[in-house]
Amino acid sequence: MFPFDNSYARLPERFFASVKPGAVRAPHLIRFNAALAEELGLRLDGEDEAALAALFSGNSLPEGAQPLAMAYAGHQFGQFVPQLGDGRAILLGEVVDRHGRRRDIQLKGAGETPFSRRGDGRAALGPVLREYIVSEAMHGLGIPTTRALAAVVSGEPVIRETVLPGAIFTRVAASHIRVGTFQFFAARGDEEGLRQLTDYVIARHYPALQGAENKALALLDAVAERQAALIARWMAVGFIHGVMNTDNMTISGETIDFGPCAFLDEYHPRKVFSSIDRQGRYAYANQPGIGQWNIARLAECLLPMMEGGEDKAVEDANAVLVRFGDMFQRHWLKNFRTKLGLIGEDAGDLALINDFLALLARHEADFTLGFRGLSAALTDGAASAPALFAQEDAAVWYSRWQTRLGNERPLSVIAIAMENANPFVIARNHRIEEAITAALSEDYTIFHRLVDAVNAPYSCNQQWSDLAVPPEPEQRVARTFCGT
Ligand code: AMP
Ligand code: MG
Repeated sequence: MFPFDNSYARLPERFFASVKPGAVRAPHLIRFNAALAEELGLRLDGEDEAALAALFSGNSLPEGAQPLAMAYAGHQFGQFVPQLGDGRAILLGEVVDRHGRRRDIQLKGAGETPFSRRGDGRAALGPVLREYIVSEAMHGLGIPTTRALAAVVSGEPVIRETVLPGAIFTRVAASHIRVGTFQFFAARGDEEGLRQLTDYVIARHYPALQGAENKALALLDAVAERQAALIARWMAVGFIHGVMNTDNMTISGETIDFGPCAFLDEYHPRKVFSSIDRQGRYAYANQPGIGQWNIARLAECLLPMMEGGEDKAVEDANAVLVRFGDMFQRHWLKNFRTKLGLIGEDAGDLALINDFLALLARHEADFTLGFRGLSAALTDGAASAPALFAQEDAAVWYSRWQTRLGNERPLSVIAIAMENANPFVIARNHRIEEAITAALSEDYTIFHRLVDAVNAPYSCNQQWSDLAVPPEPEQRVARTFCGT
């Protein structure tokens, strides 16, 4: 059924704990991503909903699965925790998909593991639906991310602040190896483990580095580049991850662990949604700085394996950290130039972009509609320019932008390019809340509709135009929760 080839399970025993999912009482399928299953080469065509529910709850194990919980450590809000690990997630195994890419299939909320600490190993329905919606929205946006393969209600309650329905989420990832996986071995002085992990990660995610002279340094540089690119993509769609702890940062460069994450409605650089982020450590504009901080933690783990002695290793690693800033800036500029329909590079572009963002902030304008409105104005004229441009400062910016666009390309061509870079529908927080609230009364229609809409976020599909509208003041969601 699943063409498993489980390479992580072949690593030494201290990398993980073998553990089976705990059975649940009455699993019921909420949603199954048949297109993704097909891409993964899973043969599930003839299976009915009950069989899928049994499979994606962990009640029945597909043949060839080698269920395990991965060991990792991590800095949580700056504090180092030497042992975290999969406390409520169980890796079933890996498959090589139709494009030749190795992918992990993992159940989240599948019961206790040796890493559960005080947790129950379970997940509540709300966070499962949130992760389903937002991870598929990220995919729709074209941003590297873990994917949603299935969501199942368990038929059992979980106890959080209140009693909630339990659910299990099936996640697909390039791998679940995190910065914190390296920290797990580094914290134990386990150089042998670090070397095995490094070789494994290079073979799996960075095969081009296999012949590199200074493999550990090359890996650091490559992870820094992917993370810089990823965070720049987040910034370009107004995404706030919310918990960029080192255990929530992948080595592959995919977005992972959708907890209190959210997309901005009105733009503000210091915006924070997460109820647990009281200091604003993971605020929107702090994300590149935190990315660099996390890469510094990875550098510390890789130092002992770098060539040329300790001083040289420190110098080389520092150079990567400095370069991270340049990498991010380069990706960020590229993304925002595209969002504004700019081709080529002009020395004034940085100021032009920043001034637009400052306008959005000053007038508390919606981030997504602000950009989307610009392309509408190009084709439909000033009448459909965002209301924002009735303001004098905005009108001045608008004419600067028009000058920069020049007249080399027809405005309609620029507008089409901009529409492909600026989403129409994002997974707005109040819509996610609405979907979860309805699901708690067993009505999944809003959830399904939202997932369908965010799958194609750039197309201006009128059947979803209500989902493009920002929240009314009374619909605003000020806080998001981790859901652990
Ligand atoms: P997260 O905040 O989801 O990134 O999780 C941080 C750590 O807490 C990880 O080691 C998780 O496996 C663990 N964890 C979160 N929720 C639970 C739970 N309900 N039961 C056991 N462990 C959990
Ligand atoms: Mg996590």
